[in-house]
Amino acid sequence: MTATLAQALPSDHVRIATDVHTEPFWQAARERRLVAPRCGSCGHFRLPPTPFCPECQSQEVDWVELSGRATVFSFSVVRGLPGLDDLVLVAVVVDLPDAPGARLVSNVIDVDPGEVRIGMDLEVAFHPISDGWLLPVFRPAGGTG
Ligand SMILES: [Zn+2]
Repeated sequence: MTATLAQALPSDHVRIATDVHTEPFWQAARERRLVAPRCGSCGHFRLPPTPFCPECQSQEVDWVELSGRATVFSFSVVRGLPGLDDLVLVAVVVDLPDAPGARLVSNVIDVDPGEVRIGMDLEVAFHPISDGWLLPVFRPAGGTG
């Protein structure tokens, strides 16, 4: 039996809405860069982006470019969605070693869902979505397991 590799959602199924707090994240992704907002006052990473730092209430933000490395914090495998019976998705929450405390909700692609493990090393990839944006997704790091 050949495993079906996990995919990302078809491009036209993903729409994003940006606002002043999230736009830098999406603009960077469009340039194939993964960035995270770090509090300009206390240095706490706040991803998902929030208007105020949960630690110190500051509104100051520095956008820090990350290496794109990540590890699986938690995941779930989704097989088939309405109208997309053959789709296999691995929904994942990742830890970002370059941004302690920050977590990102995404997908793992190009992987046998049965091989995904907590703590697995991943690297970022960019998947086209609606309106010309790119969605940061992840694939197994290095290709060597
Ligand atoms: Zn802060």
